[in-house]
Order: sequence, then C-alpha cells, then structure tokens
Amino acid sequence: MSALLTIHQLRVAYGKLHAVQEVDLQVNADERVCLIGANGAGKTTLLKTIAGLLSSTGGSIHFNSLSITHAAPHDILKRGIALVPEGRGIFNQMSVAENLALGAYIRSDKLAVQRDIDLIYQAYPRLGERRHQAAGQLSGGEQQLLAVQRALLSRPKLLLLDEPSMGLAPLMVEALFVTLNHAHQQGVALLLVEQNARLALVHSDRAYVMETGRIVLHDTSTALAANPAVGAAYLGL
Ligand code: ATP
Repeated sequence: MSALLTIHQLRVAYGKLHAVQEVDLQVNADERVCLIGANGAGKTTLLKTIAGLLSSTGGSIHFNSLSITHAAPHDILKRGIALVPEGRGIFNQMSVAENLALGAYIRSDKLAVQRDIDLIYQAYPRLGERRHQAAGQLSGGEQQLLAVQRALLSRPKLLLLDEPSMGLAPLMVEALFVTLNHAHQQGVALLLVEQNARLALVHSDRAYVMETGRIVLHDTSTALAANPAVGAAYLGL
C-alpha cells in the first residue's frame, strides 16, 4: 500500500502547552483511519495542523511524498486534503447552494462543479429542496451532510473529519456513514476523529489511540476493538 499522508515526530504547542508530541501517523491511499482518544488528547489540534490551520513546532507532514509541513491552508486543499471541522463550519446565513459553491472554489471546471452539485441535490433531495434557504435552517444532520458534501466538492484525495457524528440522531449518523463509505469507495481516503470509539472502529480499517498529545496504540481497527485496554477505556466494556 502506498502512503498518502505521512506524519513524522510532529509537535504542536499552544504557548507552553504541548498539545501534540512526537506523533507518527500514516494514512495510505484508499484507507479509512480513525483517531480516538479522550477530550483534550490533541485530536483536533492534529487535524487542524494537517490542514494548515495551525503551525507545528517540530516534525514533518508529507502528502504524496511532498512536504506540506509549512504549507498554507488553500495550498493544502489544492493538493487534495479537505477538512470537515468540528461543529461543521457551515455559514448559517448563506444559502445551501452558496455553502456548496464555497467547497469548489479551488476548481476551475465550473461546468463539472455544477454537475457535481446537481448530483448532490439528486442524492440528497432535502438539500436540493432547500438550496436557496439559509443553511442555518437545516437540521443538524442535514448540516453535517452539507459540510461533508461541501468538502468533497474540492475533490480531495484525503478527507479529514472532526467528530462528524457529534450531536446527531442515530438515523442521521447512519446516513452520514453511508455517505462517507460511498466517498471511500470512490477512492477518497478518510482520517476520522471520533469521540464515539465504537462507531469509529466499525467504520475504519486502522486506528490510532491518542492520550495527552501522544499516540499510545495503533493497530487494525478489528484488533483494537478486541484489545481489553481499549475496551475498558473507550468502549465501556
Ligand atoms: P476534544 O475531543 O475535546 O475536542 P481533542 O482531543 O480534540 O479534544 P484538542 O482540542 O486538540 O483535543 O486540545 C488539546 C489540548 O490543547 C487541550 O489541553 C486543550 O485544552 C488545548 N487547546 C486546544 N485549543 C487551544 C487553544 N486555542 N489555545 C490553548 N490551548 C488549546
């Protein structure tokens, strides 16, 4: 398997607080990887750093064998990494259509973008019906689907997702993972941060466990789900 994202000895700090410490992590092409860990473990910090929203204080990040360690967010997006941030990052006052259009701002093939948006409206009729309404009027689940589809409109090779299931009803969580698995079947690799470890391990191939800024375990998701220490700490077993 070829490495798509390779993180080596990454460190990120907020002043004196070392939120990410010597992290090594890899996502291969076509892989679904999840990152689990308690509140404050450093998961969001790691995703934001990959997306270029935070600067690292040491170590390196390579994507497709090229360094993106100090690249700007729009450059990282152009290279093929899109982030669905915690809390979705939907612009509530803007329409559904305007939110989607933002996802495609790096693309110049405007006809293909419109075709992709039409396909989204076909697949998600609720988004289609409400295309001219403010995105803030959508339900939480619909907003999360909008956020994922907006990110996919940049045609990423790797999608970073920060707590996508947070606050969603079980049926919406199911719909969300159908969407993510479909994207994965289309060749998009996933790096998923989830508080819901059970869900994350079911929907991933490999998993990393993060505690106070460090990766303390990594293995196939099946092996980690069967690991008694993971079961006790994260699966309530
Ligand atoms: P959660 O699941 O609660 O989002 P997390 O694993 O994503 O947790 P981070 O949000 O990355 O963890 O936080 C890692 C550490 O960095 C925590 O101690 C947090 O308090 C701290 N932190 C996060 N953002 C900032 C910030 N902007 N300024 C200072 N400290 C921060």
